[in-house]
Parts: sequence; structure tokens; C-alpha cells
Amino acid sequence: MKILKIDHLGIAVNSIDEGKNFWTDVLGLEFEGTDTVEEQKVTTAFLPVGESEVELLESTAPDGPIAKFIEKRGEGFQHVAFRVENIEEALQELKDKRIRLIDEKPRIGAGGAKIAFLHPKATNGILVELCQRD
Ligand code: ZN
Repeated sequence: MKILKIDHLGIAVNSIDEGKNFWTDVLGLEFEGTDTVEEQKVTTAFLPVGESEVELLESTAPDGPIAKFIEKRGEGFQHVAFRVENIEEALQELKDKRIRLIDEKPRIGAGGAKIAFLHPKATNGILVELCQRD
């Protein structure tokens, strides 16, 4: 597979409204609004950092994956996303190498990107996302 760059770092917060202040007021990153992906029970905000971005993630429901993550581990770093040239090819390659996946097929994430998560058991405990933006 061809990884192009670190696309973004995902950070779980209780509230984007409150959580964004450190990133905007202290670090000076640009807040460009939020996007809700209802079937994933998450609202996200992408703050550009050079060629990459910080993604703040807030749960829209108490049983959503971000709410569960915060319950277990508290707010903080949640996943790293690598941008790949071709996500279908990348997933096939991982399947061929018997790497455990959360998503066998890409789904549509925030901003219309094709995304898929690898299982943390296959990655030394880090949640890894692949994404492809056209
Ligand atoms: Zn992400």
C-alpha cells in the first residue's frame, strides 16, 4: 500500500465547544466548524495543522464509540489516520497479511472521506485509521 502522509490525529473530547479552546486559543489553530456522522454517533471538527489536521471527536450518544472510549480511558488521543492512495487496495493487502480489521470495507466518514479502522490488537494498541480523499 502507499501511505501518503499522516492525515490527522483523532482526539476524543467530552465537548468540542469546550475542548476546542486549547487548540484554537492556545495553539492558534483554525476552527472550521463541525460535521456530524449520525450512524457513527460522532460529531467531528477538523483543525488544519500544515499538511495534516487535528480531529476533535465528540459523541452524539452515550453508547457511541467515543463515549465508550472516554468512559474507559478518559479524554485524549484516540486514533491516528494515514492517508492512502487506494483504500480498497490497502485493505486487501492487510487481509492478505491476516491483519485484524474493524472495517473489512471502507465506509464514509466525516467530510465524505473513505475510511476504515484496523483493530488495535493488530497494531500494538493504537487505533489506526486509513483514509482516502479524492
Ligand atoms: Zn479520524
